[in-house]
Amino acid sequence: MTDLSRRHLLAGVAAAGAATALTPFAAPAARAAVPAAGAQAPGFYRYKVGAYECTSINDGARSFPLPDTFVKNVPKEEALAAAEAAYMPKGMVTVPFNPQLINTGGKLVLIDCGNGIANFEPSKGAVGRTLQNLAAAGVDPKSIDVVLMSHLHPDHTNGIRAADGSMAFPNAEIMVPAKDWEFWTSEDNAAKAQSNEMMKNYFANVKKIYAGIESKVTKYDWGKEVAPGIISVEASGHTPGHTAFVVTSNNSKILVQSDVTNIPEFFLRNPDWHVAYDVDPVQAQATRHKFYDMAAAEKALVVGFHFTFPSIGHVEKDGTKYRLVPIAWNPVI
Ligand SMILES: [Zn+2]
Repeated sequence: MTDLSRRHLLAGVAAAGAATALTPFAAPAARAAVPAAGAQAPGFYRYKVGAYECTSINDGARSFPLPDTFVKNVPKEEALAAAEAAYMPKGMVTVPFNPQLINTGGKLVLIDCGNGIANFEPSKGAVGRTLQNLAAAGVDPKSIDVVLMSHLHPDHTNGIRAADGSMAFPNAEIMVPAKDWEFWTSEDNAAKAQSNEMMKNYFANVKKIYAGIESKVTKYDWGKEVAPGIISVEASGHTPGHTAFVVTSNNSKILVQSDVTNIPEFFLRNPDWHVAYDVDPVQAQATRHKFYDMAAAEKALVVGFHFTFPSIGHVEKDGTKYRLVPIAWNPVI
């Protein structure tokens, strides 16, 4: 047996080739060249919460050069080191996106709906996959009763529009946090944000995506049962109305954290780091500690929109930091 020395590992294919050549009865060549698939498998994963069947739907993931101020309160080198420690592509950061579909038995509820397919350029095809992955999961967009937004950032909300601008989920009631709606639709707030390119774009995006459907949007408050077994929980800071959800059925529950953190490799390991996208980073930091202290104490299952697919795990306390323990793939549900 080949010893697993570094020399052999680095020599790789060349060494393996040489070994094959020396074998007197080498295996015959493959009978036919099989074309490579060239595309990823569909991204959906089913799990149960009590009697509810839930599906994590992958909207894709985006890798982009780490912006200088992706983490606002530490030097870029520290953020780069965190990316490298997580084996992200060199100099880049990878952010996944994962809406959740909850089948309560009576209602089909989609929590957040991804980037949409009309609204991305830097990594064409890598995001905006919610509709195709719903289709792969056998879900007709017309059968979705409720689209429940955690907040009004583009990666969570733009998927309500199909590529041609029509409603992607034509029969769904669209529910948004009242506080986020109030914030992002205020002309006063938009005017104040004109000097901040990112915020300016966020305000313009809400206006564009919700144009013509403003009156059809249902606004919800915190601490309410917004759909059967789904309670809205205040988790502000990331945005003023940013909301997490507790989904309960029988004696089981999950915490849908939305964006309490962005990617866990950065912000769960370093809960005091401020991601560029937080509207109120100090409040977001406080929310993060409160939320994860509770989740860790309760050993609760946490679903994170920006966790690696299927985006479900347990959060443990690790000194003053936290650690995500992802669930194992379950072949049965
Ligand atoms: Zn997000």
